[in-house]
Amino acid sequence: MSKFTEALLNREIEKIREIEKSDLHKHSTTGGKCWDLRFRNETNYFDSIEEMEQWYEDNFHEFNGAIGYYKKIQASFKECKDNGIVLCVMSFSLQEILSFKSMSQFLKWIKKVKDSVAKDLVLLPEVSFDWRTPFKKIEHCLDEIFSAGWIKAIDLSGPELALPVEEFIPLYRKAEEYNLRKRIHIGEFGGPNEIIKAIDLLGLDEINHGISSVDDTNAMSLIRRQQIPLNICPTSNIRLKRVNTYKEHPIRKLYDNNILVTIASDDPLIFGQSVSDEYLKLFCYGVFEVEELDKIRENGIEVAREYNENAN
Ligand SMILES: [Zn+2]
Repeated sequence: MSKFTEALLNREIEKIREIEKSDLHKHSTTGGKCWDLRFRNETNYFDSIEEMEQWYEDNFHEFNGAIGYYKKIQASFKECKDNGIVLCVMSFSLQEILSFKSMSQFLKWIKKVKDSVAKDLVLLPEVSFDWRTPFKKIEHCLDEIFSAGWIKAIDLSGPELALPVEEFIPLYRKAEEYNLRKRIHIGEFGGPNEIIKAIDLLGLDEINHGISSVDDTNAMSLIRRQQIPLNICPTSNIRLKRVNTYKEHPIRKLYDNNILVTIASDDPLIFGQSVSDEYLKLFCYGVFEVEELDKIRENGIEVAREYNENAN
């Protein structure tokens, strides 16, 4: 029995936190623990991404300035450290990067904050674009951001399918020029046909969420054939009312269909959970046996390591 399986069986969250893990889906500003920013932990449910964004704005507007941004990023790195996260894909929005005078100033700043909190963390930074922003509005800054050689991936987040997938084909082609890992938020709100379309048109390396693929054998076999990992955040799916309960979460069926799944945090600041909490919940609600969770944990580390080695 491994230390991880033993900690799960004994439901010892502090011991679970100590074991090495990956977090392949975490948004920078909402990646910290609520209480590290002295904010009480709510258990909110939202009908849409827009409603969630509004709640965040209403409750965290005091952190909108430069000092607030520093506190949120610091909390995000601390959350990694507190949960045994050794490899993390942290998603920085385009707006965050553009709020700095230059890419080099942003890099210097992030490195300083990370080293002050989580020096040993292997950070896989990505820039996240918004589903609502047309390509022509972002095109001008891509070369400066990508050519700095620090960003390892791109992502598309925000309200899924706000614009058609076709709009982002040039963005994903540009990412290929720089050998960036191509990721996207899809299949949390959109159905399996949208997932298939995004894989075909954009050429994806990873999917954040992708849970609706469970409804379609063609979508699942495409994901399996192309070995595309799904980075799944059960609590996020429940709070956004995409899944009713942990027990019913499609991660079980996806795993049984030999799809590579990893467990990730998404937005601990909003949902009040960590990767460690997600593992414990999936065990306590009887979704997985401890050995299966250990295998998922190891797979996540392996995906992140390969990703790091193959990055530009
Ligand atoms: Zn997300």
